[in-house]
Amino acid sequence: MLSFEAARAKVMEVIGARAGTPDTELVDISKDPVQALERVLAEDVTADRDYPPFDRSTRDGYAVRAADASQAGARLRLVGESRAGVAFEGAVGAGECVRILTGAAVPNGADAVVMQEYARVEGDCVVFERAATTGQNFVVAGTESRAGDVLLRRGKRLGYAELAMAAQAGHAKLRVNRRPRVAILSTGDEVADLKETPGPFQIRNSNSVSLAAQVSYAGGEPVALGNARDELGDLRARIERGLATDMLVLSGGVSVGTYDLVEQVLQELGAEFFFDSVAIRPGKPAVFGWCRGKPVFGLPGNPVSTMVTFELFVAPAVEMLSGAEPRPLFSKAKLAQAVSEKTPLAHFLPARVSWTSGDPVVEMIPWQGSGDVGAVVRGNCFLVVRGDRQQLSAGEWVDILVRRGII
Ligand code: AMP
Ligand code: MG
Repeated sequence: MLSFEAARAKVMEVIGARAGTPDTELVDISKDPVQALERVLAEDVTADRDYPPFDRSTRDGYAVRAADASQAGARLRLVGESRAGVAFEGAVGAGECVRILTGAAVPNGADAVVMQEYARVEGDCVVFERAATTGQNFVVAGTESRAGDVLLRRGKRLGYAELAMAAQAGHAKLRVNRRPRVAILSTGDEVADLKETPGPFQIRNSNSVSLAAQVSYAGGEPVALGNARDELGDLRARIERGLATDMLVLSGGVSVGTYDLVEQVLQELGAEFFFDSVAIRPGKPAVFGWCRGKPVFGLPGNPVSTMVTFELFVAPAVEMLSGAEPRPLFSKAKLAQAVSEKTPLAHFLPARVSWTSGDPVVEMIPWQGSGDVGAVVRGNCFLVVRGDRQQLSAGEWVDILVRRGII
């Protein structure tokens, strides 16, 4: 049986080798910047001009020739003002200075800005209490970037700073990769639609909801395919519909029970399988295959298993289909209490990480097993206990799988 690391590496290897280049679309950040948030750039963004476009003061004060104020006590004649958006028109001559405000252009002739805290106005002159040094308190034009420089590379995910950079360089429209469409199909005769009142032995379809959210976090566009009964015909019809999108994710029906039919149907449709179990708990029967040119994941149906296996195996696939690099999986925290697991599988346990006392500290949440969504909700991450290190001591640094959107 594969370790989760090997299974995840397999997913990335297969998607890397087989996925084509995504289609692209334009988003207009002048209309709606949020539409572009977390999208993946499909082309390089270049600088349309030098930045800053002029020598830009970083302080309120006085623009001077440093040589004129090389000693404390220098007295210079005030000849004008340069403020943000409105530059001083002339040049600063010998023995002169210009009032300057943050964000304003340093006038010709000046080569330093003295902060107003070190200057006082006396009549039409300014007396400087500190010596000026050349280059002080302003950013020289073009030192952040030059016209034509690549500011953001293709494949970059757009966060708020990246959007600011694109805006700064005049790119109102950005070409981004289309989000991969990810079909979500739950299975099971016991699964009731949210609009229905469940029968006494039915459970509501929560997996289709959590999976849609996880697909969206990973950068995909969820496509709801409803729920398939544990019956070959219905399952086949819906799976075929799912294979018309970019990727299919199923929940349930992948264990070894009489009514676990997902693998059989995929097989009949000609699927190639890369794994159908992974050494983890929860989530052991997770399936990854390729069917009719599309990646297919079969995730075990217990809600916590579905969540964990999505993060481990499906999220990197969605990220790669969006043209981005998969995000790193784990963060580190110090374990609050000793933990001991018996089975030699990698465990993903509902846990809560907090930062109240400096280092991040993680503590386990008591739980009833892989159906217990409440334990996940009470926590904010999963604690990783590896199969070859089942005894962990209090105070050890451990891996945690942080819950996206919550932390
Ligand atoms: P399975 O993997 O099909 O054996 O399902 C295991 C258990 O997960 C079932 O007995 C249900 O309790 C639960 N389950 C399956 N599908 C869903 C779903 N779509 N939403 C919530 N729970 C589910
Ligand atoms: Mg089932």
